Amino acid sequence: MDIDNNEIFKGNKYTLGFNFQDSLIDQLTVLREQNFPGRVVEVFGALDDSPVLSARPQNKIPTLTQEEFAQQVAKLKKIGIEFNYLMNTSEKIKGKEDEVVSYVKQLISIGVKHVTVGSLKLASLLRKNFGNEIHLTMSITFGISDEKTLEKVIQSGCDACYLDGVNVNRNFKLLTHLISVAKSRIEIRLYANMSCIAECPVVKQHYKLFSSRRPDVQERHKGYFRGCSAIKLTSPVTWIQAPAIRPEDVEIYRELGVELFKLSDRLAPTKSLAFTAWAYSMNTSPADLFHLYERTGEKYRDLFTEDSSPPLLGPFSVSSSEIPQEFIQHFQDGRCNSTNAQCPICMSTANDAISVNDGWEEGIEVCKQMFRSETHVSPDEIGRI
Ligand SMILES: [Zn+2]
Repeated sequence: MDIDNNEIFKGNKYTLGFNFQDSLIDQLTVLREQNFPGRVVEVFGALDDSPVLSARPQNKIPTLTQEEFAQQVAKLKKIGIEFNYLMNTSEKIKGKEDEVVSYVKQLISIGVKHVTVGSLKLASLLRKNFGNEIHLTMSITFGISDEKTLEKVIQSGCDACYLDGVNVNRNFKLLTHLISVAKSRIEIRLYANMSCIAECPVVKQHYKLFSSRRPDVQERHKGYFRGCSAIKLTSPVTWIQAPAIRPEDVEIYRELGVELFKLSDRLAPTKSLAFTAWAYSMNTSPADLFHLYERTGEKYRDLFTEDSSPPLLGPFSVSSSEIPQEFIQHFQDGRCNSTNAQCPICMSTANDAISVNDGWEEGIEVCKQMFRSETHVSPDEIGRI
């Protein structure tokens, strides 16, 4: 089929994590030829020679030559997909403004016109130097969950921004208020397949860790991951209360005025990213939502010590057929904010939908003990268990 990239697509629009593999572009090309209600219109990622950190441990960021990258950007353009380059941390840019500007100039020369920033200073620097040549998105790491912060981002000249999903995705009163503040001044985006804990009290400190190049600070990510994993492993209702947006529910958010939805994870293999892109393009949850939120689940398997034999599946299955179609309604009408571990609807849904996978009962116990003694952010401190 001929692809008409100039048509105005009216369905659900997505931005997908990009792992810099040609195999993912092949998958997206097949997907683009389908006539689905949703569409990937942008991918996002960063390379390791970037002058500003992106929000992933630096040793996991891919290396690619500019030529290889340029070829991928061109292939994506052919199927109507923009590349959004991530500079999405609050890393200080003072003293290296010229380096940042020259890097972005190079990006623009290969066709990358979308950049995600993590600070107001970087947004202003790029707007000043590139005017309307560049499309700027404020990252989720900036943590927009109130009117004042949103207003600052609008004033910095960003074209789009992510609202802080941890606090906003399941708080419809706050979401509709922020959308009304944004009006047509800035495009509102949400992170759809997130597995963070709703209203995580340490999310801002966690985001800040990403903006340091110091190895000891980067190492502390593991502690944060252990803290939230401890909660997820100890309290299965967390899987229901993680503020993810199911594929079936995206339309509800779009009708409220959310224009684009982020799908992660850019460090995941093509198989996982394609699986996620298909599910959201079709507005249909897979049988097990675990894989949509946690990809291969390998980070849980990595928690085992070397002499343990990690099971192949992740710790839990989250059965989508056991989650009522109207589950989202009790958030929409304000009966639950997705943090109340006693919410009868969340509890009964968790009871029906969550099951521990074979081989994990013992592993979960081991992990719980390990977390209690080692974790940087204690689950007790967070107060959810
Ligand atoms: Zn609830």
